[in-house]
Amino acid sequence: MGTAVESANKEVNGSVAVKNPTVVFVLGGPGSGKGTQCANIVEHFGYTHLSAGDLLRAEIKSGSENGTMIQNMIKEGKIVPSEVTIKLLQRAMQENGNDKFLIDGFPRNEENRAAFEEVTKIEPAFVLFFDCSEEEMERRLLSRNQGREDDNIETIRKRFKVFLESSLPVIEHYTARGKVRKIDAGKSVEEVFESVKAVFTPKEEKAD
Ligand code: ADP
Ligand code: AMP
Repeated sequence: MGTAVESANKEVNGSVAVKNPTVVFVLGGPGSGKGTQCANIVEHFGYTHLSAGDLLRAEIKSGSENGTMIQNMIKEGKIVPSEVTIKLLQRAMQENGNDKFLIDGFPRNEENRAAFEEVTKIEPAFVLFFDCSEEEMERRLLSRNQGREDDNIETIRKRFKVFLESSLPVIEHYTARGKVRKIDAGKSVEEVFESVKAVFTPKEEKAD
């Protein structure tokens, strides 16, 4: 079997429709409000929102050969292999003419991060990190009510563990490079968006 990078390159040829698109990674624990705030950012700042989780769920629904494997991994709160997720992200970027993307829920671990950089040659402009307590995230997930198979207390606990063990190191990697914009995500949707807006608004406009 080839590496994640070889496999992703074979399928999509390593390119995206727009050369050098602006990419912002949106990270945070499950239920920290990534999807909610991405919808606001799309509306105000013209980005295209690509959620790794949504792309994986669409792949299950499409009846793809990987569908059962993806479904089982999501049920267990596990990280789906990089080559699968990267291919889906690349395809979505290729199919979209925009030149700025919010990539939500990716990279989930160091291997995701390194493989994405190697395949796409894209470095994120910055990383938006929604910082929220587990207690609050658990409350939100248990009342999300979207019929998701992974929004049950058993899987939620597993997802928290994966986030701490595998995803936080990615945030540490980018923190060391000065790329993380940390947001206090424990507040109301409106208050969180005020902080998000400040990150996306160019400095000269903020002076007004
Ligand atoms: P994520 O994409 O990080 O998993 P979501 O955006 O789906 O999180 O939010 C999880 C749940 O919490 C949703 O039901 C959403 O409506 C709700 N929610 C999101 N942000 C907030 C907030 N700031 N305060 C209270 N509830 C929120
Ligand atoms: P989310 O919709 O972001 O809450 O993700 C739901 C589930 O999809 C996660 O618990 C993982 O099982 C899987 N998943 C989401 N994003 C990724 C990713 N970048 N890499 C691998 N698996 C992922």
